[in-house]
Amino acid sequence: KADMAMYRSKESGRNTYRFFNEEMNDDAVAQVTLFSGLRRALDARQFVLHYQPQLEMGSGRLLGAEALIRWNHPDLGLVYPGRFIPVAEETGLIAEIGDWVLHEACAEAVEWRRVLGQDLAVAVNLSALQFKRGDIEKTVAEALEATGLDPSMLELELTESILIRDTESILAAVKRLKLMGIRLSIDDFGTGYSSLSYLKRFEVDKLKIDQSFVRDLAHNPEDAAIVRAIIQMAHSLGLKTIAEGVENKEVLDLLRLYRCDEAQGYHFARPLPADRFLAFAAERGI
Ligand code: C2E
Ligand code: MG
Ligand code: MG
Ligand code: MG
Repeated sequence: KADMAMYRSKESGRNTYRFFNEEMNDDAVAQVTLFSGLRRALDARQFVLHYQPQLEMGSGRLLGAEALIRWNHPDLGLVYPGRFIPVAEETGLIAEIGDWVLHEACAEAVEWRRVLGQDLAVAVNLSALQFKRGDIEKTVAEALEATGLDPSMLELELTESILIRDTESILAAVKRLKLMGIRLSIDDFGTGYSSLSYLKRFEVDKLKIDQSFVRDLAHNPEDAAIVRAIIQMAHSLGLKTIAEGVENKEVLDLLRLYRCDEAQGYHFARPLPADRFLAFAAERGI
């Protein structure tokens, strides 16, 4: 038929072909393939977490790491979250993937303590859907209990889009997470709806200054003004700040000048596989 496009499916076998209506564009095809792939990836344990060091600005001390998911795809190699997290969110699979991430990250932080003899914190990204599902505290409590991680060593990164909803249930969930002793930060701060009112209502601990403001800090006066303002506001509210996307010493020195509390970025390390993060930590002599 003329209106049918042929699509060779890698995953369903060598000589199988799937037929899609032409109206179904490449995106949709990719989406369907991705979805079934993601489902299988969960079962086949193809997801891995990499860990990017987070350091204290003043002392240079290693504080912990952010856990960042990758998909170790049998054909494609390492697939980055930008390519599959949006599909996982649209299809609802993010809830299950998120549960796995939480559990895996907590287990790894326990391992750091066992191997290094010192506490390091792990930061985990949460998606809005994990909140909408309404049982986020339960999932977190289960991960902590199953792994034995001290709640104070877990940080959850929320996005402004989660907090902007400002429903009673989200407010209650955040309150309960805080009561458990978990730390909360706002990821990509400054790029969302930028309603500051939620800073008043939600007890967060830290603002993560988005890398789009950090990258050109040394050469862009507007970025510098925004970063300074965020840091000042955060400190006035009793919040800490971490800059993400710190790629060179020039930026680091400026952030220090502005009294930013913590830093994360390629200047220190890229996100590292678990074993390499441990080596990084050991090398730092923490
Ligand atoms: P994010 O949480 O803002 O993570 C920071 C991203 O910036 C990471 O990309 C990291 O590799 C990258 N990055 C760190 N330092 C630098 C730097 O100095 N320069 C540059 N150019 N980039 C740097 P990645 O790992 O590709 O993650 C992208 C996004 O995917 C994350 O943004 C986060 O929103 C999402 N994500 C990652 N893991 C998870 C997860 O487990 N669950 C959920 N829901 N989302 C995740
Ligand atoms: Mg993050
Ligand atoms: Mg971020
Ligand atoms: Mg980001």
